Amino acid sequence: MLKKQNIALILLAAAVPAIALLPLPDFWIAQLNYIGLYALVCLGLVLLTGVGGLTSFGQAAFVGIGAYTTAWLTLNTGMSPWLTLFVGLGLTAISALVVGLITLRMSGHYLPLATIAWGLALYYLMGNLDALGKYDGLLGLKSLTIGDVNIGQGRLFFVLTWAILLAGAVALLNLLDSRPGRAIRSLKGGSQMAEAMGINTFRYKVTIFVLAALFACVAGWLLAHFQRTVNPSAFGLKMGIEYLFMAVIGGVGHVWGAIVGAALIKLLDDYLQVALPALIGTSGSYEVIVFGVVMVLVLKYLPDGLWSLVAKKLPRPPRAVDWQNAADLPARSKPAAGDVVLKVDKIRKQFGGLTAVNDISFEIPAGQIVGLIGPNGAGKSTTFNLITGVLSKTSGQVLFRGEDISTLPSREISRQGMARTFQHVKMIADMTVLENVALGAYTRGSSGVLSSMLRTNKTEEQRMMKEAQRQLERIGMGAYLHEQAGNLAMGPQRLMEIARALCCDPALLLLDEPAAGLRHKEKQGLIQVLRQLQGEGMSILLVEHDMDLVMDVCDHLVVMEFGTLLTRGTPAEVQANPAVRAAYLGTEH
Ligand code: ADP
Ligand code: MG
Repeated sequence: MLKKQNIALILLAAAVPAIALLPLPDFWIAQLNYIGLYALVCLGLVLLTGVGGLTSFGQAAFVGIGAYTTAWLTLNTGMSPWLTLFVGLGLTAISALVVGLITLRMSGHYLPLATIAWGLALYYLMGNLDALGKYDGLLGLKSLTIGDVNIGQGRLFFVLTWAILLAGAVALLNLLDSRPGRAIRSLKGGSQMAEAMGINTFRYKVTIFVLAALFACVAGWLLAHFQRTVNPSAFGLKMGIEYLFMAVIGGVGHVWGAIVGAALIKLLDDYLQVALPALIGTSGSYEVIVFGVVMVLVLKYLPDGLWSLVAKKLPRPPRAVDWQNAADLPARSKPAAGDVVLKVDKIRKQFGGLTAVNDISFEIPAGQIVGLIGPNGAGKSTTFNLITGVLSKTSGQVLFRGEDISTLPSREISRQGMARTFQHVKMIADMTVLENVALGAYTRGSSGVLSSMLRTNKTEEQRMMKEAQRQLERIGMGAYLHEQAGNLAMGPQRLMEIARALCCDPALLLLDEPAAGLRHKEKQGLIQVLRQLQGEGMSILLVEHDMDLVMDVCDHLVVMEFGTLLTRGTPAEVQANPAVRAAYLGTEH
């Protein structure tokens, strides 16, 4: 059966040749060709900036690499233009990889600045190399042909460009709705949560930087053969900024926004270039000022761009459930009853002169819920972060299922089967509950970017969705599968995080203040979930403020005060301990 989405795509695909057959003036076909080329560049920006949160002003430079590569090779070596595309893609991938590896580790505004520098550098390089014709560029390129048919101009070129554009858009939509896609969508929220799910965030940043550059390169290749000449002005910083304008105004978070933005800016650009100098009385690139103002207005009043207006009107049918018959994901062996799952040995953390965690030791036997408690500032969260690899230890050792994990990053620790939730819920608000939870199964799959774009990942995707649904149902969240995560109340949000952690198939679950901010009824629900997990033999480390809850569900308690271990024991023992009473009475009441 065809899904509505697929029908829409087929109609869209049929519209391209249909438009080509319309008696439109050649001028409009040429406009559509430019719009298609620009939109292709913007598609890359949607992925990079809109989804990944990385801003680039340097896309025009990658367009330039695609254009100059094919221009130089076809003019000087007689290579087929179809082959030069792949040379261009190779060169683009290498240069994007180098630029990306150098700049993407830097945080904040370094990346946009670095892409500006990169754009300028390449512009001057293109403009000063004799072999590339300096600022005059290269002339006399041939149109693209298939056999004797010239498809490099007019209507056939329109069909070619828009077919590539639509294929790119569909590939991108497929990618975003997949294992690597969910990882990419998690980049914007900071790296902590993604890394805790086993995702190598740096690698994904480099990946989307390279992908965006490849989209730009294809556009450059097409452009060169369409214009039959290349010169640096089309690939300078001004164009780099304009591409970003197009993406932002169209709606940088939406794949279709790329086309809307490209169309709007291209048409507006042409109009303003004539109208403004006439109005002002002198020539100049005044349109840039108008774009700047429009961009500020759009960012202020419509931060998701123009397409978001359309997207709001479009129906959002719940994801079709097609995974009932999928096989289960591979599961890891679980510790046997009585095994020590976690052994924390004299871990210490010093922040300058403050010893936040002072030689803390404890163990978690399989199947137990161990509570880590203590007054505010006792060092619980720091201990939690030392165990999960978020912070590095000053000294001490952590053994997980007998393996030393003391120096591993959180991503590797998660891969070994230690899953966590966060004191402040970390989720992707615009994904459904199901998709958020599926993020937890990341390390249990292997499909990559290419197979996701081509949709050959379907079997694995179904297995992941089935697992996510199973874990949500396990904790009583089966009714929320298709809800937007951002619309949930605090209680269900926290449960969703637990389901996401369970999706990792953990041997140990770490919960950081799961009851914080919950109402009484939600807290009762949480207690029930914890009891049920305990009944299923799950090992849990629970950092929690709520004493009633801790006393209720924990098998064993570890009490900290001022970074040191105050006492350990059963809830009853701890409650009877005068030192514990003093610690709490002294600070909390
Ligand atoms: P708890 O979670 O038990 O409330 P924390 O582990 O958050 O306590 O903090 C323990 C102590 O370490 C506190 O005194 C806190 O101010 C300090 N601390 C925590 N994180 C840092 C940090 N990144 N830099 C400096 N001091 C910190
Ligand atoms: Mg804390």
